[in-house]
Amino acid sequence: MNLMKKLVLFFAAILTLVFAASQIFKVQIGERIFAKAVSKNFGNSVLSDLPDGLHVVLIGTGSPLADPSRAGPSTAVIAGKRLFIVDSGGGAVRKMGEIGLPPAAIERVLLTHFHSDHIDGLGELMLQRWAGGGYSEPLPIHGPKGVSEVAHGLNAAYAQDRNYRVAHHGEGIVPPSGFGGAPIEIEAGVVWQQSGIEVIAFEVDHEPVSPAFGYRFEYKGRSVVITGDTAYSDDLARHAKDADILISEALNPDMVGIIETASREAGNNRIGKIINDIPDYHITPVQAAKVAHDANAGLLVYTHIVPALPSAYLDAVFVKGAVDKFSGDIIVGRDGMMFSLEPQSKDIERHQLK
Ligand SMILES: [Zn+2]
Ligand SMILES: [Zn+2]
Repeated sequence: MNLMKKLVLFFAAILTLVFAASQIFKVQIGERIFAKAVSKNFGNSVLSDLPDGLHVVLIGTGSPLADPSRAGPSTAVIAGKRLFIVDSGGGAVRKMGEIGLPPAAIERVLLTHFHSDHIDGLGELMLQRWAGGGYSEPLPIHGPKGVSEVAHGLNAAYAQDRNYRVAHHGEGIVPPSGFGGAPIEIEAGVVWQQSGIEVIAFEVDHEPVSPAFGYRFEYKGRSVVITGDTAYSDDLARHAKDADILISEALNPDMVGIIETASREAGNNRIGKIINDIPDYHITPVQAAKVAHDANAGLLVYTHIVPALPSAYLDAVFVKGAVDKFSGDIIVGRDGMMFSLEPQSKDIERHQLK
């Protein structure tokens, strides 16, 4: 046997042994991997390493239309170390766990309006924040008129779970007084101000949903504007004036039109009619780019993406025409994207958390 053959046989024997050992010790290897992953991820929080500044995390960039790659609409704004959540769509809380944003750290929630896709993760958010943080006061939830019904309704829906957890873990760990949400009805203007952080609500056009709000966050010379759901209006550029980042919802009417045609061709005129109604109270990617231009925004980020974009090729179709309106960077948001604004500067840093 020549040397080459001997070497091949030798390595084949080694590989066979390694494979056999990995099969025999499968459970032990699995246990080691699990323990290592737990110790690495336990208590893993984006907040602990953040420098001072204004930071935005896209938690969920989806919409009511099914998109397996996107949670429902939810955006985190971190000013200094304080964590605010704007809307809490379905799946957003699980996404927070995945990207290392602990619900226990949430200071307050701001709701833009009460379409179900913006609140169907809110009950879970309130529960996780309470159970994880051991708060003795409920979570403050700012929102337009109607916020009391939403908060009290969810409090009622989760009341039995509250009782189970108090009975199971004890009042010292989960104080009953801290359960649920405390609604705060807002009007347009400054809705919260402290430690150099200013949160401003402005009315948007999402008729027949009225009032519906967008939010502007200001901190140490930097600003972020979140439109919420809105049709195009000239007012948007005024509210987003000189914002470092404009986070705009966006719906591409041509792509939605194709879905409508397909629904009608499949004989489902009811769904066709509903889909036909959707575009009139949303803004298009091109219109949002015009707002970003008129506002002199630093960066435009799309969220609440309609329709679903399962492939990067579709992103190009989605944004078609937008670059003609806005010369700054345009980003199709994905869950886990983070943007950081250093105080008193013009820099925008980008990261992808998970
Ligand atoms: Zn809406
Ligand atoms: Zn929506």
